[in-house]
Parts: sequence; structure tokens; C-alpha cells
Amino acid sequence: MTETTQALSPTPPQPRPTHLRTLTYHGLAPGPRLLVLGAVHGNEVCGAKAIAQLVHDLDSGALRITRGTLTLVPVTNPLAYQLGQRTGDRNLNRNMAPSAIPQDFEDSVANVLCPLLDAHDALLDLHSFHTGGAPFVMIGPQNNTGPLEPFAHADLEMQLALHTGPHRIVEGWLDTYARGIQKRLARSGPEGSRAQALVTNPNYGVGTTEYMRSRGGYGVTLECGQHDDPLAVGVARHAILQTLALLGLTALPLVAEPPHREILRLVDVTDRDHAGDTFSRAWRSFDPVPAGDVIGTRHTGELVKAPTDGFIVFPNPRAEVGQEWFYFAQRRQ
Ligand SMILES: [Zn+2]
Repeated sequence: MTETTQALSPTPPQPRPTHLRTLTYHGLAPGPRLLVLGAVHGNEVCGAKAIAQLVHDLDSGALRITRGTLTLVPVTNPLAYQLGQRTGDRNLNRNMAPSAIPQDFEDSVANVLCPLLDAHDALLDLHSFHTGGAPFVMIGPQNNTGPLEPFAHADLEMQLALHTGPHRIVEGWLDTYARGIQKRLARSGPEGSRAQALVTNPNYGVGTTEYMRSRGGYGVTLECGQHDDPLAVGVARHAILQTLALLGLTALPLVAEPPHREILRLVDVTDRDHAGDTFSRAWRSFDPVPAGDVIGTRHTGELVKAPTDGFIVFPNPRAEVGQEWFYFAQRRQ
């Protein structure tokens, strides 16, 4: 190899991460156990930044844990974070479960993360989103004993959601997702690749908060703002401090709940069936849409219309074929 070709050689890729960094603070009196996650998606860094500030405050003595346990995971998917993208080998916030034979990088992370989730009572998972808009928080189902996501801590979870800050709360993700999977299976059949097998498995909808609920805990996903919005770090920081105050882990004052709240229930998800399926507008999450309005057009020319008055949520004009194109939500009565 000549010197010239050496100089032109690309820099060798960074080695894949081999550990997960966690920090735990034990109050010297017993109390609730809180887990805070940042960068479950590698390009959503507001939580990681807010956690770094918090570690500084705790280590300098500016903030003190007086009871219970606080565990911080600044970067929960270190491979995706290193790559500066949402996922590493796959989406860490799906199919969350320990695996005896890990295949993807995220399977190995889950084998460390699931026992950590098991060891805590409450979870605050800090995310950000692609298109602009106001922060919102996602909660699980109402209390129920059904087979999909039985739950008994809806009141605690709503209280946590309200104190994280945003006035907009979104619920009903997993059952809507599971119904979407049924529709997807009805169209495509269960055969296919590993990727296809994953996206047609109802367990694929289980992320950090769903896993937490399945183990007797509760938790919320806070979407702090647009990925690059510098205000998102402040939103994340406020949420962590208020969660510490709510659970009594520290002696900070608790801010009152927002006086106005808007609770939206996800009721339907629509897959993109073909690369020629297009939206009628550049939808943003929580755009209102009246019954009968055209949301998009299938490549066949078939119009996709709003079934009732409602809201577009998580629209993805570039969704892969066979994956979620948009969710539809209604105001909870
Ligand atoms: Zn995310």
C-alpha cells in the first residue's frame, strides 16, 4: 500500500460500545425508586444533556437525594448515540425483553436494562421528536385486568405525567399498536424475514414504559420538543426535578399541575402500503382534522379520510412500506 492510498483511507470505524453507564444515588432513608433514561433513541439527546447537568448538581451538593433511590442512565442506546441516529441494529424502544440468545446490539442492552427496570418503581423516559411542536407526555392504559396491558397504577402515572410539565397527554399506544399489527397480519400474512417477524409481533410494541408496567411499575415517556430545540433540555431538566419532588426524593418545591390539560386517546394506526402513498398536506403531530377530511391518497387513488373528528399523530411521510404511516387520536371525553 502506497503512502497516497494510506492518506486517502477512511478513518477506521469506532469500535461498538461494550458497556452501559448508569449512576445510582441512594438516599439514606427508604423511599421510592426512580429510573430516568436518556437517549433511548440515539439522536434524541436532550435527556442525556439534562442528566449530565443533574449529575453535576448532585455531585457538587447543589441538589441532594434525601430518601429513596435515583438511577440515571444518560445514554441508554450507546450504539445509536455513537452513530448519531435513532437506532443501532434496531429500535431499542420496541420488543423490550430479556433474550437468552441476544442477536442485535439492542438485545444485549435489554438484558442489562430489563433487570434495572425491574429494580425500580417509576420510570421517566426522556425523548424528543423530528418535526416541530410543543412537548407532550405519553401514558399507558387506564386501570384494567385485560390480557394485553393489565395495569393498576393509572392514578400514580397520571400524577407523574401532569407534573412533568406539558399540558398535552397522549394515551392508548399499545392497544392501538396491537390492533395495527392485526390489520398488518391480515394483509401480509405472518411469513417473511426476521425484520418482518419483528414488526408483526404484538410484543414488538413493548418499549421501556410498557415493560415497566408489565413488571408492576409505572412510567411515562416525555417528548421534550424537537430534536435540536435547545429548550428541550430545560423541559427534560424541569421534568426530572419535578419527578424528584413529587416522589419526595429531594426537598424541592412541587409546582402545581397545569390548570388546563388535553388528553388525547390514540384510536387507530394506518400503515403505508406503497411508496406511492402520499399525504394531502405536510401534517404535524396534533393537527386537528374533521371527519371526512382527506388525510392522504393511496397509490391506487383511494382516498384515506378521517373516520371522525380527531387529530393526526406521529405522521411519517417517509414511512417504510408496511410500517406505521400515521396514528389517529380523539379527545378523551
Ligand atoms: Zn424517541
